[in-house]
Order: sequence, then structure tokens, then C-alpha cells
Amino acid sequence: MKGRKLLMIPGPIEFEPDVLQAMGQATTSHVAADFVEVFGRALERMRQVFLCPSGQPFVVAGSGTLAMDMAAANLVEPGDHALVVNTGCFGDRFAAILERYGAEVTQVRAPVGGAPAPEEVEAALKGAQFKLLAVTHVDTSTGVLTDAQAMAALARRYGALCLLDGVCATAGEECRQEEWGIDVYLTASQKAIGVPPGLALLVASPAALEAWRKRKSPVQNYYADFANWLPIMEGYEARRAGYFATPAVNLVCALDVSLGHILAEGLDARFRRHRRISAACKAGIDALGLAQVAQRAVAANTMTAPYYPEGVGPEVLKAILEAGVILAGGLHPEIKARYFRIGHMGSAGDGDILATVAAVERGLAAAGYAFNHGAGVAAAQEELLRAE
Ligand code: PMP
Repeated sequence: MKGRKLLMIPGPIEFEPDVLQAMGQATTSHVAADFVEVFGRALERMRQVFLCPSGQPFVVAGSGTLAMDMAAANLVEPGDHALVVNTGCFGDRFAAILERYGAEVTQVRAPVGGAPAPEEVEAALKGAQFKLLAVTHVDTSTGVLTDAQAMAALARRYGALCLLDGVCATAGEECRQEEWGIDVYLTASQKAIGVPPGLALLVASPAALEAWRKRKSPVQNYYADFANWLPIMEGYEARRAGYFATPAVNLVCALDVSLGHILAEGLDARFRRHRRISAACKAGIDALGLAQVAQRAVAANTMTAPYYPEGVGPEVLKAILEAGVILAGGLHPEIKARYFRIGHMGSAGDGDILATVAAVERGLAAAGYAFNHGAGVAAAQEELLRAE
């Protein structure tokens, strides 16, 4: 399509044509029989995509921040202790939200680009009786991937519920919610789930719901209260319409289509594809001589965060855009102007990575940076061929 740019930011991402077509259908009644079927199926598919057969899915109009807010509002009572594993800006946000509902928050932080070691998290868990361990799966401000399985195991050992922010991860990074023992796994529609912005998505474990049921004080957020949503979600799944607040009808139709694609690809294949294209992107960036924010051992598979090389700054993004690819600038306040971000999730494939690395090369060349033209594309291609 002439003039069309390839969107490779860490959300929103490029969406599949039939997902967009589902959005564009005539809006129906939220209690119409065909919509009840679609919503019910989408809820069943959520459970499968989150790999949490015993979990309770919630699909609510809002963004990822609302999903975080919902988890905190329903599980925090004033004075509860919460431990936040902080790998960037979204850890700060999680801490702020938990505090807003009255939690006493302790944080374990790593320097920018690192992730706290499980031993540090364990040492902190020994410091108080924590009700919650809040973890960011991939922090979009640093591109750091946290070992969710290790964190959930620690939470269990110390009697805490594990909340995992999967906004830049769910359906891209490997996560086996039930097997790993994650109590709330939450995300937003616009990232690896592959649906335009507007849905807050979460799956709560039976233990999370039990903790909510045992609350002594009311949930301090009317819209987010599980009490309002649980009968609606249970109802639609049993193919009974209900109403608490109007669902985002068209987005739910799109969600159903996208979850169908994810399940048709298969989660293991999807996790593998994300690892493969991420490795290719990172190899391409390495070959251009650019350093990356996330330490390689903890680097995400859904995004890459390269530093600009010496003498190049954020204005290079404009030249990359002219070469056809939309990338994102920095977000983390400590390094904001020194790096940029590439998202590669959803249905992104080999061609998208090659086009992106090629556009980065064009931008760098236009900025006067000296490198072997084609070296990044060749390295990315090499990695893709190696990983065939
Ligand atoms: N957590 C993470 C890890 C994110 O990347 C984002 C969005 N970039 C959010 C939470 C907040 O999501 P939203 O912007 O949809 O509210």
C-alpha cells in the first residue's frame, strides 16, 4: 500500500486484516444472541491463551493500566504489604497503584537494563509477611524480561499472591499461568494479543478470587470491583447476556478473532516465533554496533531497545520513518533521549524484522553514522536462516 508505514513500536502493533474487519462490522446489541456467543467463546479462549484452565477471565473496556488497577483494587486492603519487583517505569506504576489502595509497598530494583536476582527478591520476601508480589513480565521502558516462573515460585513459598503485568508480553513471551502459579496475569488488547487498544484483560486464579472473597473492607473502586464483573463474565461464558457496564462490543468481536488466530498457531509455536524474530532483530542491531538497554540474559522477546550510537540522537527516528518504519523513542527517564524501542510481537514475522533493520540502517546512514551498509540486514537474515 503506497504511503503505508510499518508499525513496529511496543504497542499498539500491526493488526491482522480480519481482526480489523471484525471491528468494522455493524455494532450489535450487547445482549444479542450472536454477540453472547462471540463473547462467551472469547472468554473460553482467554483461559486457553493464558494457559490457565481453572482461571477466571475478565474482559473490560479500558487499557492495561485499568487491568493493573483492577488487580490492585480487588486484592489490596489498607495496610497489606506488597513487594514490587521493579525493572522499569511500569514497576513504578504498579507500586503507585498498589499504594493508592493502601498497600505498604517495598520495592526491589535493578539498575536500568537489569532484573533483580531471585535471591534478592527472596531476601526481601523474608522482610515482612507480604500479601502480594507484583512483577512486570516485560517492562516496556527497558525491554527487560523477568523470570516469571521463578517469581511465582517464590511468591508461593512465602505465601504471597503473584500478580504479573503481561501488558508487553502476554501471548508473546512464554507464560504458563496455572502451571507456574501466577494468581493474576493481566494485559491490554493492543500488544501481543493483537487487538486495537481499548480492552483490559486479566485472568485470576482460584486463590486470587478466594483472597478477594475474604476481604474485610469494600473494594475502593466501583468500576473495577470483581463483584460487579464476575456475574457478567460467568453469565456470558454460560451464554447468558448480562449488563453491568456496556461492553466494548466491536473490540470483543475482534478479540475473539485474534484469540482464534493465537490458538490456531499454537502457543508453543507462537512463543518460538517471538524468540526467533527477537534474536534476528537483536543480531541485526548488534551488527550495526549499537548497544542495547536490556542485559542479554534478561532481554525480552517482544521488543528490542537499542541505544543510539555516538553522534546520533532521537531525530534519527524521523529518517527511519521516512524509510517506512515507525519506531518508538525512549521512555525511561534516566536514559530517555539515549535510546529507542522496536516492538516485534503479535503476528510480526521475518519480513517485518528485515524491513525494520533495513530502515534503521537507512536512518543511521542519513544521520552520518559510519557502518557497513547491509551488515545489520545480513546478520538478521543469518540469524533467521540459522533458526530455520
Ligand atoms: N504495563 C506495561 C508493561 C506496559 O507496557 C504498559 C503500556 N505501555 C502498561 C502497563 C500500561 O498499559 P496501557 O498503556 O494500555 O494503559
